Amino acid sequence: MDLASKIRSIYDYPIDGIIFRDITTLLKDGDAFKASIDAVTESFKEDIDLVVGIEARGFIIGAAVAYSLGCGFVPIRKPGKLPAKKISSEYELEYGTDSIEMHSDAIKKGQKVLIVDDLLATGGTAEASVNLVEELGGEIVGLSFLIELVDLKGREKLKGYRVKSVVEFN
Ligand code: 5GP
Repeated sequence: MDLASKIRSIYDYPIDGIIFRDITTLLKDGDAFKASIDAVTESFKEDIDLVVGIEARGFIIGAAVAYSLGCGFVPIRKPGKLPAKKISSEYELEYGTDSIEMHSDAIKKGQKVLIVDDLLATGGTAEASVNLVEELGGEIVGLSFLIELVDLKGREKLKGYRVKSVVEFN
């Protein structure tokens, strides 16, 4: 299935000059959603203990991948959302920094983790997620994305890890 054609491109959103890749058009198409989850899951059929999904669209993709693999799901959230003891990791934005958080007891040492998000752009969010998982002793099996914005070279921040994306845009 041509999944790229199911993704809507919104010009000048959220700011001028940016093309936002909108996955809501893909999600509402049952066949496309199923094919996407199957593709994100495909290369990672080995023993994965946990899928870690990144707020917010990474929850949609990641939870479905976890169900498909029959393993648990751990959310990585924006600051201030998680109720229990947590760890956090900062990453660079074009201007300034942002951070993400995960519960301190979310991963046990040695658990095999697949990180899932809807889209890989600069790789800052994914790199910060890797740091959270490894801080708790999780073993990263790989990172899987529905979309990769290839020109932004996010993969360079993820050298040494297995990185998969289903649809590429420039
Ligand atoms: P990065 O940290 O790799 O620069 O950005 C990736 C994060 O930003 C992902 O969590 C993703 O959800 C979000 N993101 C950035 N640009 C887009 C876009 O065009 N479409 C969608 N769906 N998400 C985006």
